[in-house]
Amino acid sequence: MGKAHEIIIIGGGLGGLACGALLAKKGYKPLIVEMNDEIGGRVLGATEDGFIYDYFPIGLTPVRGHRLELLATELGLDKDFSKIIGPQRASFGYRGPSGNWKVVNDVNILLGKPDETPDMNHLFELWSLSEDEQPKAVSILADIFLKPPEEILKLDEEDITFQQYLDRMNYDMPSAVYNFLGFYANMAMVEPIDLVSAAEYIRIAQDSFNNGGGGYPEGSMMRVANQLLDIFVQNGGAVQTGTKIEKIIIEDGKVAGVRTVKGEELHSPLVISSAGIHPTVLKLAGEEYFEQSYVEYVKKLQPAWGLTSQVYFLKEPVLNFDIAVAYSDDAWWDLEKYQRVENGYEPQDVVIYAQVMTNYDPSLAPPGKQLLSAGTICPSDRDSKSISMLIEKTEKILFELWPEIVPVLESKRYAGPAEVCNLTRDRVIYGQGGECMGLGQAVGQSGLHRPKAQTPIDGLLLVGIDAGGVEGMGVHQSVHSAIKVANHVAGVPV
Ligand SMILES: Cc1cc2nc3c(=O)[nH]c(=O)nc-3n(C[C@H](O)[C@H](O)[C@H](O)COP(=O)(O)OP(=O)(O)OC[C@H]3O[C@@H](n4cnc5c(N)ncnc54)[C@H](O)[C@@H]3O)c2cc1C
Repeated sequence: MGKAHEIIIIGGGLGGLACGALLAKKGYKPLIVEMNDEIGGRVLGATEDGFIYDYFPIGLTPVRGHRLELLATELGLDKDFSKIIGPQRASFGYRGPSGNWKVVNDVNILLGKPDETPDMNHLFELWSLSEDEQPKAVSILADIFLKPPEEILKLDEEDITFQQYLDRMNYDMPSAVYNFLGFYANMAMVEPIDLVSAAEYIRIAQDSFNNGGGGYPEGSMMRVANQLLDIFVQNGGAVQTGTKIEKIIIEDGKVAGVRTVKGEELHSPLVISSAGIHPTVLKLAGEEYFEQSYVEYVKKLQPAWGLTSQVYFLKEPVLNFDIAVAYSDDAWWDLEKYQRVENGYEPQDVVIYAQVMTNYDPSLAPPGKQLLSAGTICPSDRDSKSISMLIEKTEKILFELWPEIVPVLESKRYAGPAEVCNLTRDRVIYGQGGECMGLGQAVGQSGLHRPKAQTPIDGLLLVGIDAGGVEGMGVHQSVHSAIKVANHVAGVPV
């Protein structure tokens, strides 16, 4: 007979930890079971030679009004418990029809700085827009960035892709604007323009525009995870790390507990899983316990694309931007191009993002050193053959646009979908496991259509990025899901 627990939470990423901390604070005694030796999941990181870095890159959107702030309120903490620092300086690189790269500094269009008006001229300069193209660009971008919430809700109800939305609007659109919109879907949502939900796209763009995008918590993401762990434990929660769950035990149609890979049984009438909707339903619980229609529904849910994670440790502080992006007209992918890359096609350029973490928070490196995080979109499958080619291309563009990095490079570290999969989630269907956020922000599974936290099995709930949240980027969505699930368990109306 195994040990009995009031609630078992599978996974100690931000979703599991936030849910656990909230439940413990409400007087429950949950047990978090985490397969890794450390908590953190997708925000896992390390300290090496005085550098504090994330394995996988994180830019928090929105900077103001992030669900981490709501979580602090729900936990009765100061909202600064995970103070998010917004980027102050952004650089944009672009290679247009001229064939040459151009970099424009101090672009403020997506930083949401409260005291500055976003200046479209930065983008026009980057794109070399002609005078008659400029008003067209302003009117299209304003239409997207200023769309009223009720119209976005209608798009959510209709559940159309952003490409379908653009087709419908039939804008007289300069090609540079279209290429930017396609690039933005890849970079901000890790999705293609012809799959991402229009409502989700517009909400995230507006959040960045109004409240700032690409923020980072003071002290690192792992600090946030560790703070949540402390609150959880101080309020009576228990954690078992280094313990992988291989089965959710179901008896008479109800959850009865879990079994670890070592065969230990832990009993509980309530299991909350953050292991991902695909692994939870198709592997841990098992298809046989669900109606076929639910199994088919889960199998059709699309993981987001992957993102390469490239960390550069610099001997000297040579970079002035906090956040930078670069792309060319050839660099961004729609669905068809993604398929081609998966099948071995080698694109000329790739989209790149870069964040100088020490420009947000100098304590993340020894004095006088700099920490740079960069990457590009990639297939989400852990066995994809294209990852090293895409990392190489990212690095080539990065070093071409910012050559000052090269002489001060102390060391570097690469990760990709294989590491995401090994460290955070099992692959149970092709392409899933190494995805960036979790479930993609695609039509049919975003906003109003996000999977529900409650599964058809009595006592089995999902928490984290894949289910129960509403809208927004990875951490935002994951934490929102945790708040909703904790309130649901406690019987608080949500
Ligand atoms: C490359 C990359 C880039 C990202 N960039 C951003 C970004 O810029 N902005 C943003 O907001 N978000 C970003 N995210 C997403 C964000 O990190 C995640 O959405 C969020 O951290 C997910 O938290 P979670 O708790 O839902 O899931 P996870 O962090 O995946 O937590 C799940 C936990 O469950 C554990 N687990 C899984 N299976 C088992 C099992 N069988 N037994 C026991 N334990 C198990 C895992 O080890 C893990 O700790 C990025 C993610 C990646 C990978």
